Amino acid sequence: MRLTLLGTGTTSGIPAAGCICGACDRARTGTGPSRRHTCAWIADHRFSVQVDAGLVGPDRPDALLLTHYHPDHVAEIAAVAAGRPVWGPEDPDRRIAVEDRVPGLRIRVVEPFVSIALANGWTATPVPLHHTIPAVGWLVEGPRRIAWLTDTLGLPERTTAFLAALRPDLGAIDCSFPPDDPRAEEKRHNDLPRAVAALTAIRCTAGRLVHIGHHLQCHLDEGTVLPPWCAVGHDGERIAWS
Ligand SMILES: [Zn+2]
Ligand SMILES: [Zn+2]
Ligand SMILES: [Zn+2]
Repeated sequence: MRLTLLGTGTTSGIPAAGCICGACDRARTGTGPSRRHTCAWIADHRFSVQVDAGLVGPDRPDALLLTHYHPDHVAEIAAVAAGRPVWGPEDPDRRIAVEDRVPGLRIRVVEPFVSIALANGWTATPVPLHHTIPAVGWLVEGPRRIAWLTDTLGLPERTTAFLAALRPDLGAIDCSFPPDDPRAEEKRHNDLPRAVAALTAIRCTAGRLVHIGHHLQCHLDEGTVLPPWCAVGHDGERIAWS
């Protein structure tokens, strides 16, 4: 089982259009990371699922799981979803607006904590998040357990308890802002301390920070110490288990 981070950036990505901050400058010159819309590809040799559709990956998935309907998570839905089963949270107006963009697309609405059967023995369980609009994370379980947690500010208590009891092999979480940035509360995205705290609380074996904003990237570029089991994700990074 393996996970590929197709993208690890916020809505604006890195470099952000017109921005002259250090992180965006370094991305343009190739001396720092570029980051596109956050989404993931999870696969083994027989089955694959993509979480969110902000990007088209190198291969089409067998199924698509959506966390919410903000544009950076559904920008490429027409290409990614075509002919595949798609599951997502209830948020009627935004869900219907997404469906209307893709002929024949019907998003299967999920209930929090109610698992769906994928294929190949895999399951996926939606878990509630704290965001500006209805959003769910996904626990994808095959040979390994992967918790994908974007977009969110902290985690609801029930989500933390559910995941901590299962001790995911990998937790990947929204980490958009540097410490003490008031926009974290306003936009309902994690800052760095809250992202690490949430991953610590779910007791995952390994952690990745994703949905990285350019101001956070400037902060990271100055040097930040993370717990040894936790790292900042990168576009194209592949994490594999034997
Ligand atoms: Zn910038
Ligand atoms: Zn969002
Ligand atoms: Zn987002």
